[in-house]
Amino acid sequence: MFIEEELKKYGDKNIRVYLDMDGTIVHYNIDGAFDYDKKRPLLDRIDKVKYLNDNYPNITFYILSICHEKKQINEKNIWLDKYLPYIEKDNRVIIVRDPKGPITSGDVKRNYLNQLNTKDTIILIDDDVRILKAVKSNNRNHVVLYKDSILSD
Ligand SMILES: [Mg+2]
Repeated sequence: MFIEEELKKYGDKNIRVYLDMDGTIVHYNIDGAFDYDKKRPLLDRIDKVKYLNDNYPNITFYILSICHEKKQINEKNIWLDKYLPYIEKDNRVIIVRDPKGPITSGDVKRNYLNQLNTKDTIILIDDDVRILKAVKSNNRNHVVLYKDSILSD
C-alpha cells in the first residue's frame, strides 16, 4: 500500500492526516445538488484509512471539508457516521464558505491549517490542486501535501 509506505517514513512520530471529502473519499458529483447521504463512498480508499487507523496508533485521521450552507455540516456528519464513524466529532472540521464570497476554499483550508498549534506532523490529502497550491504558498506548519491519488494502490 503506497500510503502506508509513505507514512512509515515518520516512524513513531504523531501524525495528523486531514482528509478532504468530496473527490477524496466521496465520489465527486458535478451536479453536487443531490442528497449527501446518497453520495457514493470511495470504499477502496475508505478501507485504507480504516486499516491505517486500526494499525498505527501514532496516526490520527481528521476531516477538513468545506460546504456552502450550514445544514450541509449535518449532512456530511451523517455520511461520516456511516462510513468513517471512528473519526471523532471533534476531529471533523467542516467549514461553511460562501461560494459567492471573495474567500476561496484554498484560503479557508490554508488559514485553518496555519492556525494549528501542534508538534504533530500534519498531512493534507485533497483532490483539488488549487487547495494544495494555496496551502503550499503560505505553509506555516510545514503541512505535507498529497493529492488524493496517494490513496490508490
Ligand atoms: Mg475535494
